[in-house]
Amino acid sequence: MARKPLVAGNWKMNFDHLEATYFVQKLAWMLRDAHFDYRKCEVALLPSFTSLRSVQVLVEADNLHLKYGAQAVSVTSQGAFTGDVSADMIAHLGCSYVIVGHSERRKYHPKDDANIVDQVRAVLAAGMQPILCVGESFEERRQGIELEFAVGQVHDVTRDLSEDETKQLIIGYEPVWAIGSGMVATPESAQDAARAIRDHIRLTFDTHVAQSVRIIYGGSVTSKNAAQLLSEPDVDGFLVGGASLDVNEFTNIARIA
Ligand code: PGA
Repeated sequence: MARKPLVAGNWKMNFDHLEATYFVQKLAWMLRDAHFDYRKCEVALLPSFTSLRSVQVLVEADNLHLKYGAQAVSVTSQGAFTGDVSADMIAHLGCSYVIVGHSERRKYHPKDDANIVDQVRAVLAAGMQPILCVGESFEERRQGIELEFAVGQVHDVTRDLSEDETKQLIIGYEPVWAIGSGMVATPESAQDAARAIRDHIRLTFDTHVAQSVRIIYGGSVTSKNAAQLLSEPDVDGFLVGGASLDVNEFTNIARIA
């Protein structure tokens, strides 16, 4: 089964809504200029909450084919939770995706690490796709248990999901040591992890489910390493951090995909 590649830009805590507006317009213009075929590859932006409305207005007004989503979500649907943002609120802005379990959230917001499954369920219930991030730290890699670790993180979520819910997942394999470090995983090790994750889903469910789930790689992706990573059969695209803040670089990565 052919899975459509996804190139998603995780802006993290960068760009206010004016910078986001400028970026989206420039990206759309550059991709149009390059005759980019959105039927062959999805391009998504994951801005801060404060920019989502601006991105939505641009995408809808100009009928752009860009997708977008949020970087985090609350598990509660409404009420007295000061500072939280619900999945429904995000979905009502036309979002397609929400990142769940990014290593930076797991680290700086331990409460988020404890309820990953609830976040995944909240995103799915609101009709969006979770981008579930998993990946080992340097220490686990040193011990040679990186595959077990990443697969274990996937298992912790999929054991509580139905087949239909699992099919909707996008899994971001992001080795923590590769994030923002300039140390990209080799194509072989990205493939090993993606294949181990896909095998696990196949064993838990079936081949059809395993073949439907998109597994994207994240961690120091640039236009220089994107082509090689994407040539691996189980790597279905990228979650791009630093390089997604440069519109030329991000456009190049999308064009490669
Ligand atoms: P990076 O970040 O591309 O800057 O390594 C990736 C991510 O954190 O999603």
